[in-house]
Amino acid sequence: MQKKLLLSPGPTPVPSEALLAMAQPIIHHRTPEFTEVFNQVQEGLKYLFQTENDVIVIAGSGTSAMEASVSNVLSPGDKAICIRGGKFGERWAELCQAYGVEAINIDVEWGKALDPQVLADCLTKNSDAKAVYATMSETSTGAKFDIESFAKIVGNHPQTVLAVDAITALGVMDVPMDKWGIDVLVCGSQKAIMLPPGLGFISLSEKAWGFTESSKCPKYYLDLRKEKKSLAKGQTSYTPAVSLIMGLNETLKMIREEGLTNLFKRHATLAAATRAACKSVGLKLLAKDSPSDAVTAVKSPEGTDATQIVKKMKGKYGMIIAGGQAELKGKIFRIAHLGYFDKCDIFSAIAHLEISLKELGLPVKLGAGIAAAEDVFLSE
Ligand SMILES: *Cc1c(COP(=O)(O)O)cnc(C)c1O
Repeated sequence: MQKKLLLSPGPTPVPSEALLAMAQPIIHHRTPEFTEVFNQVQEGLKYLFQTENDVIVIAGSGTSAMEASVSNVLSPGDKAICIRGGKFGERWAELCQAYGVEAINIDVEWGKALDPQVLADCLTKNSDAKAVYATMSETSTGAKFDIESFAKIVGNHPQTVLAVDAITALGVMDVPMDKWGIDVLVCGSQKAIMLPPGLGFISLSEKAWGFTESSKCPKYYLDLRKEKKSLAKGQTSYTPAVSLIMGLNETLKMIREEGLTNLFKRHATLAAATRAACKSVGLKLLAKDSPSDAVTAVKSPEGTDATQIVKKMKGKYGMIIAGGQAELKGKIFRIAHLGYFDKCDIFSAIAHLEISLKELGLPVKLGAGIAAAEDVFLSE
């Protein structure tokens, strides 16, 4: 027998409360029963997004919400600044391209964050840019970006909106949408929201809703203005992913019960323990200056293909960690700690990492990582 532990930055483990809710017989979506659940979900999402704005629920993965933030806000020929510090930052530029939007790219070395002054300068130079597309937690590198500062900068430009991919940031770190002045905030279900893949979430500020009035990009399924009208009636425009929404109601209840402060603290502690443990084992972190609390990207020891470590962890020990993507393939592995995670999961990941490294013939002092994690937990 082998127990599997999902330590990937999406999909993430789903708590049994949600699994049981999703196993219930399907209900029809044009009923008061569904509307009651959907309204509760709306309240929970507003709490999570820290916003008074509507949070639109899309039957689609996180990328559908990213796509909607281009196709509903801009028009072909518009200019947009895309911050590209990894695979997901690149996706913003690809989406702009798909809609005929001119992308002005700010390229950031993978693993690093962006000095907000660079954005300020770029925006001064391109004051006709209609949008800035950013990623708060770049899952491919484990780096965290300073969205609060970005929002202050974009806030000085009334003709520009800030759209943030918070797919591995929401429910992990503080992202107060209204307080910071984020205009478009997107998320997906299979990260810290603790659900299977299949839902995208998007919320727009009043300023961004204004932009939707003049947006001329083609759209049908992802027409947010239509969804907003349906939402006012406790409905979605098309058949919603009913079972996922039943599960969502449960995970949002769990999030509210824990409370955002405790939720962020738990993630910060698990991330700190993971980072300390990896360093004690003698490994180097990729995003050491500005690490995300969602996922830790670890450099493979010199001369070792990270894929070997991923394979060993998975095959022999059932620990599903992620490798590197694109240019980081073989160079890093990533241990996630977002969503339904606790200290026990970190111990399990670190212990198996130590054993795997040992088995691969790498020098490692067994127990060093565990001791470092214990120290972090004790100093809480
Ligand atoms: C997972 C992820 C996405 C993509 O989400 P899909 O659900 O695969 O479409 C986008 N951005 C970030 C930062 C992610 O972690």
